[in-house]
Amino acid sequence: MKLYLDPGHGGTDPGASGNGIREKDITLDIALKIRNILLTNYENIEIKMSRTGDTTKSLSQRTNEANAWDADFYLSIHCNAANSSARGYEDYIYSGLSNSSRTATYQDIIHAEVVKLNQLNNRGQKKANFHVLRETNMDAFLSENGFIDNPQDAALMKQDSWRQNVAQGHANGIAKAFNLKAKATTTPAPTTPAPKPPTNPGTPPTNPPTTGGLYKVIAGSFKARANAEERVTRLRSKGIEAFVVTATISGSTWYRVQAGAFSTRANADTRLAAVKKAGINDAFIIAESGSQSTRGTTPVVPSTILGPTQLSAEQMDRFVKKVNPNAPELGSYYKTLGEYYGIRGDVAFAQAVHETNYFRYTGVVNRGQNNYAGIGATGPNVRGATFATPRDGVLAHLQHLYAYATTQPLPNKYPLVDPRFNLVKRGSAPTWIGLSGKWAVPGTTYGQMILDVYEKMIAG
Ligand SMILES: [Zn+2]
Repeated sequence: MKLYLDPGHGGTDPGASGNGIREKDITLDIALKIRNILLTNYENIEIKMSRTGDTTKSLSQRTNEANAWDADFYLSIHCNAANSSARGYEDYIYSGLSNSSRTATYQDIIHAEVVKLNQLNNRGQKKANFHVLRETNMDAFLSENGFIDNPQDAALMKQDSWRQNVAQGHANGIAKAFNLKAKATTTPAPTTPAPKPPTNPGTPPTNPPTTGGLYKVIAGSFKARANAEERVTRLRSKGIEAFVVTATISGSTWYRVQAGAFSTRANADTRLAAVKKAGINDAFIIAESGSQSTRGTTPVVPSTILGPTQLSAEQMDRFVKKVNPNAPELGSYYKTLGEYYGIRGDVAFAQAVHETNYFRYTGVVNRGQNNYAGIGATGPNVRGATFATPRDGVLAHLQHLYAYATTQPLPNKYPLVDPRFNLVKRGSAPTWIGLSGKWAVPGTTYGQMILDVYEKMIAG
């Protein structure tokens, strides 16, 4: 996605001014912050700016440049001025566009994200015949971020934290509107290719790796081998690799068509969807532990938040200390409290590893907060909750997960220490993947990133 980012005014044109500040300086700082947030956090975006310093550039130069570059979106940042009493935020798209236009849809999304964070009166979504909206070939959007001649709005504009929040709101809107792919925030995601099927469809599959479990996509199960072979042929004609495996169920032999084996449930779900799209409606997934000798005891990557904790406290602590020897030893809290609430404490631990970057606290939350899951940390300057002890921090994390995982009342052995428990739509995310876009916004890959960490934990 190509974003043309335009801080309004500049150089000999200061824009509006008041209360000791100039529009051109505020718009430039917000735009640079937007660029920084987007390039740091998202993969599939390119940004060209109309200016990165205090330079003069005409409106036609800006729109010509965006058109020549063939940008996908034009984002123009401004501040307003009127009569010193008007205040608040508003944004614009071109007046010739309908409310059902694609540009209007983008406006809906970006507006909603900006007003969440900007602390300004909301003056609404508007349309106007501005040059940059009219002369651009791509969808274009212009925001007026407060009134510089109003003392209250100007007091906000002078704060670096406010400008950062406004930038974050715009960045969140762009990310949501264009479905940008978040960068992994910990170490790179593991690449665990599915085992290669044997070339001869008649032979059994190679043994899966001994570490971790596997999710196998079974595209049909037959009593007659010939029917299974026919299914394989049909799948291959649709571009889906498959082969036959035998399974003994209640003493009789079945011929199963295996169309892939994956180390994460999400990847298996994706393949299952492809198989079903190819017209195979009786396909299903089976979860298998890694090796014959440890069958039933080797941990697998789970999908639900509720469930048993598979790793020991020592395994959790050892995993994180390989990366950060100074990490606190929280494994026993995640193990025992996880078991009390019926939550997979080891996967919650993986979430804490992801949130705190191996307890190195490279995000907004500080070490001293004992806040391992970013509870209440909603923006770059909103550090969120603080808990008295590490145990309380883990307790709050698990209680927050419990709120998402189930509609059941919270078991009452421990006091409620999660300050946001009652803000959660109860039972709205029973799976780890389901936390995406809820625990972390926009965070479309959030749940998968937790499971990726967990996959590394069970691999030792
Ligand atoms: Zn302006």
